[in-house]
Amino acid sequence: MLNIGCHLSASKGYLHMGKEATDIGANTFAFFTRNPRGGSAKAIDTDDVKAFLEYAKEHSFAMLVAHAPYTLNACSNKEETREFALNTMKDDLARMEYTPHQYYNFHPGSHVGQGEETGIELITKQLNTVLTKDMTTTVLLETMAGKGSEIGRSFEELKAIIDGVELDEKLGVCLDTCHVYDAGYDIVNDLDGVLDEFDRVIGLERLKAMHMNDSKNPFESHKDRHEKIGEGSIGLDTMIKIINHPKLQGLPIILETPNELDGYAHEIAVLRNAYNG
Ligand code: FE
Ligand code: FE
Ligand code: ZN
Repeated sequence: MLNIGCHLSASKGYLHMGKEATDIGANTFAFFTRNPRGGSAKAIDTDDVKAFLEYAKEHSFAMLVAHAPYTLNACSNKEETREFALNTMKDDLARMEYTPHQYYNFHPGSHVGQGEETGIELITKQLNTVLTKDMTTTVLLETMAGKGSEIGRSFEELKAIIDGVELDEKLGVCLDTCHVYDAGYDIVNDLDGVLDEFDRVIGLERLKAMHMNDSKNPFESHKDRHEKIGEGSIGLDTMIKIINHPKLQGLPIILETPNELDGYAHEIAVLRNAYNG
């Protein structure tokens, strides 16, 4: 089963996203838990959530991959920004419990000159504050391109965060194809080698979801500019290898390519067509 979808707008609610996903051939999706630039979240409509949960069950949806706002930076050098990150994540995780047992993905953060060690320490500290034993959501650390002072450019950095978290059973990793290629993991020429390294450093059982994006820039450029599937430096062949790789079966795959709904529908159709399962 190929579990694939894309980013959808949450402005019309959960059921609307579910139906939109079905319309474009998706059986999972991502959405921003609030405006991607931050700010306050819309109140949860419990009737809408209930209708969506039924709809998702009927249509055999895979797990959803919610996305935290981009502005969330747990390892900022400003106390105020760190506090915003903490409170936003706390509130997001409370909201996620309306749709239990899904994924919540976030960018670990940028250390803005404080150094990786301090960055990792601050992220770990935030996770140790917001994760609770009773939560059903799994929080995913996204692999990053290494733009500026981004933490998460290497598997080792993600592993260091996981190692510092007490309730590490609540943590997983979301692998973004554009980001890892930008960061210097050659998924085009050595996909098996990259997955072996992920397994050796983090453990493949932590890999819970993927962001599938082509890249506007060449290998190791640390730029983070997504391209349509097959139109960038990674190429369609590698994407087809990824969806058919025996070690990656069942993971929800989210497209974050520069597309409107019809473009996403096209990419989903191309990938479903190339799927051998
Ligand atoms: Fe992301
Ligand atoms: Fe991503
Ligand atoms: Zn990106």
